[in-house]
Amino acid sequence: MNPIRLLLLGAPGSGKGTQTSRLLASFQHLESVSSGDLLRQQIQRKTELGRIAAAYISDGRLLPDAFVTELVHNELSTKGWLSPKSSWLLDGFPRTVTQAKSLRSKLTPHKASLNMVVELDVPESVILDRIENRYVHVPSGRIYNLTYNPPKVDGLDDLTGEPLTKRPDDTAEVFGKRLDSYRQTVTPLKKFYADIGILHKVSGETSDIIFPQLLDIIQKKLKHV
Ligand code: AMP
Repeated sequence: MNPIRLLLLGAPGSGKGTQTSRLLASFQHLESVSSGDLLRQQIQRKTELGRIAAAYISDGRLLPDAFVTELVHNELSTKGWLSPKSSWLLDGFPRTVTQAKSLRSKLTPHKASLNMVVELDVPESVILDRIENRYVHVPSGRIYNLTYNPPKVDGLDDLTGEPLTKRPDDTAEVFGKRLDSYRQTVTPLKKFYADIGILHKVSGETSDIIFPQLLDIIQKKLKHV
């Protein structure tokens, strides 16, 4: 079988985290990294990186490219993903063409380039509604939604029993900035991956409509290069 090396693109709240969890449950050999989760873990651990990240995140701004690139590249090396047989999924990185180019030059020498980029296309009205009800378990990145996917016990993570938190950047004001920044950066990023010939798109209002489309793209890729 061919490896899966997938990037999920999508506006904040488009369900990248939810689709990631569903894919990890479907493909046992798959692992994932979310740049947002890595940054939130740094903030929770009160590291120097976390202190810098918090200032940008709470303001809805993207962090400098070099900063996030180094963090994610280190994670790729640590996880042993720089190998032609590795299968993995990225959520939230690359977000700019500069990051995409850095990632490409990191992966290409190892014959471990991305082979699929899938854009999750979800209407903005649906996204805004989701964000209001979103809670996260920071250490794992597990996401809950009080309407569609509530925790078994109010306010606590299903697996660890640890507290869930509301993301400080999920307020209406900061969320608006994050959406603007997504709109500005996504067009050139999509062009970059369309030119390489690996860009796909799935559309829908719910995770149940999106997921089968995503599976279909991946299953085709697993069978043919
Ligand atoms: P996310 O969890 O992907 O929505 O990311 C939360 C926040 O972390 C973003 O609004 C940015 O401030 C920051 N961030 C995450 N990934 C990146 C990235 N690839 N480049 C720059 N900033 C990022």
